[in-house]
Amino acid sequence: MRAETVTTPETPFAAVLEPGYADYALEEAAIQPFGARVLPVPAGEDALSALADKNVFAVLTRERRIDPALYSDVPGLKLILRYGVGVDNVDLKTATERRIHVANIPDYGAENEVSDHVIALYLAVARRIVTRDAEVRAGLWGVGQKSPVPGHRNATIGLIGFGRIARAACTRFRALGFSRVLVSDPYLDAKTRAAWDVEATDLDSLCRQADVVSLHTPLTEATRNIIDARRIGLMKENAVVLNASRGGLIDEKALAEALHAGNVFGAGIDVFEAEPPAPGSPLLGAPNTVLSDHCGWYSEASVGELQRRAGAELVRVLEGAPPANWVNRW
Ligand code: NAD
Repeated sequence: MRAETVTTPETPFAAVLEPGYADYALEEAAIQPFGARVLPVPAGEDALSALADKNVFAVLTRERRIDPALYSDVPGLKLILRYGVGVDNVDLKTATERRIHVANIPDYGAENEVSDHVIALYLAVARRIVTRDAEVRAGLWGVGQKSPVPGHRNATIGLIGFGRIARAACTRFRALGFSRVLVSDPYLDAKTRAAWDVEATDLDSLCRQADVVSLHTPLTEATRNIIDARRIGLMKENAVVLNASRGGLIDEKALAEALHAGNVFGAGIDVFEAEPPAPGSPLLGAPNTVLSDHCGWYSEASVGELQRRAGAELVRVLEGAPPANWVNRW
C-alpha cells in the first residue's frame, strides 16, 4: 500500500540528504505509524531551503557534509544519522552543544563486504589483474613473467586500526597465507591481541615491516594523513597500500609520487580525500593502482540491513528515546 501522501505543517520529516539508494521504503514504512515521512533532498539542492518551514526531526546523510547552518537553523532537529560507520562529515561538538543526537550504523554487517573488497583490491593490485585484462583485450599475450608479481606466502600484513573491518580482513589475509599480523591501534587491549594472535606495534615499525599496509581507522584529527610522505618512505619497495576506510588518512600526492618512483609496489584505493576525486587528482594517474568508488560497504544484503537499522533509529527518536548507536553522548 502506498504511504499516505498528505502532509500538514506538523508532519514530522526525516530528511535524506543526497539520496542515493534505490528507494526509502524501509525507512518510510518504519516511521509511517507516527505520521512521519521521508523527505529526499537531492544533490545540488540547498538543504536549508528544502527544510525551511518543515517539522524536520531527523537528517540522514551518507557522505554529504552537514551544512553548519543546519545545526542552528532547523528547530526541532533531534537526530543526525549517518548511513554507515564514519561520522567525520558531522561536527560532533556543535551537534552536542545544540543537543542534537548524532548516531551512526556501525553494525550492519559491512565488515564482510568491506573486508572482501579489501582483499579484492589487494589481489587485483598484486596479481596485476586490471593491467592484464586490458592487455588481453588489446591482443597482447605474455603468459605472466612480464612484470614482477609479489607472492604472499608467509608474508606480513600490517593493519592500522583493529576494529570490526580490520578483524574480518585479518581472517581473510590469513586464509591467503599471510603468516604474521602486525597491528597499530592505540586502543588494542591485551585480551584482543592474544585472542587474535596479532603483534601490537607502533605505526613506523608497521610501515617498515609490512608487505601489505591496510588502513582501518576512523578519520579524526589524530589520524588525518597518518600515512604521509615520511611513513611511505619507510615502506618496503614491494609494499602494497590498501585504503577502504577514509581518504584523508593518506597523503594522496605523496603516495602517488612513491608509486611513480617505484618506491612502493602498488595501491588499492576505495576512498579519496575528495569524493569523487577531481580530474587530475594524483592517484588517478598512479601506476599499478586499482581504484573503486567508495563501494566497499555495498551488497544488496548490506544496504537492506543499513536502511532497516536507519528506520529503527528514527523510530527510537520518534518515541522520545536516544538512538541506540548514539555517538556524541552527553
Ligand atoms: P571500528 O570502530 O570497528 O574500528 C576502528 C578502529 O580504529 C578501532 O579499533 C580503534 O581503536 C582504531 N583507532 C582509533 N584511532 C586510531 C589511531 N589513531 N590509530 C590506529 N587505530 C585507531 O570501525 P570499522 O567499522 O572497522 O571501520 C573502519 C573504517 O572503515 C572507518 O574509517 C569507516 O568509516 C570505514 N568504512 C569504510 C567503508 C567503505 O565503504 N569503504 C564502509 C564501512 C566503514
